[in-house]
Amino acid sequence: MKLILLGAPGAGKGTQGKIICQRLGIPVIGTGNIIREAVANGTPAGREAKSYMEKGHLVPDEVVIAMVRERLAKEDCKNGFLLDGFPRTIAQAEALEEMVHIDKVIDLEVDDQVIKERLAGRRVCEKCGDSYHITNNPPKVEGVCDSCGGRLIIRKDDDPATIESRLAVYHRETKPLTGYYQAKGILEVIRGTNDLEGTTRQILAAVEA
Ligand code: AMP
Repeated sequence: MKLILLGAPGAGKGTQGKIICQRLGIPVIGTGNIIREAVANGTPAGREAKSYMEKGHLVPDEVVIAMVRERLAKEDCKNGFLLDGFPRTIAQAEALEEMVHIDKVIDLEVDDQVIKERLAGRRVCEKCGDSYHITNNPPKVEGVCDSCGGRLIIRKDDDPATIESRLAVYHRETKPLTGYYQAKGILEVIRGTNDLEGTTRQILAAVEA
């Protein structure tokens, strides 16, 4: 199964992606996580990506495409994978099409107002990147990651001004991808505002159909 999870920042791609991939036994490839790691490690690509990311802009296509190409070439992607946060532009989608055949694209649809509330209450693990929400999906122990015990922090790009910028970028650059994949007949749109388990069930049903 070669899958793409589309949706605005905060739609639930990271949270759902992790659960779906555990169920299906495939790796999740989150470009946001790959870029944050590159920034933290100060690699050449990370140094180039840093300022874009902090402003809530997209990192240039060629930088992200190269990262994805390298990741998809690894052995664990042979039997499938789920892309979270890629593609985000039509140019990225076209580059991806040259690399692999995608089976299904799931679009998690969530209104902007809900997105803003979600991102404002989001906490992420600084160690493993797992995502929580202070009221909708709290960790068992406040400030501590259930999965790895790491410290939960507020992402720099989750401040209100950067959230506005990321949403604008989403509508301008990424939303057109739904039409792109609809035309290919592989798009499934799922309301991302149901409860967490209900949304997981809907995604799995769409993938298995
Ligand atoms: P995310 O964790 O998916 O919200 O991504 C965080 C940030 O990483 C985004 O706001 C972008 O700056 C950058 N980023 C992640 N994925 C991509 C992508 N496919 N294309 C360009 N920039 C990306």
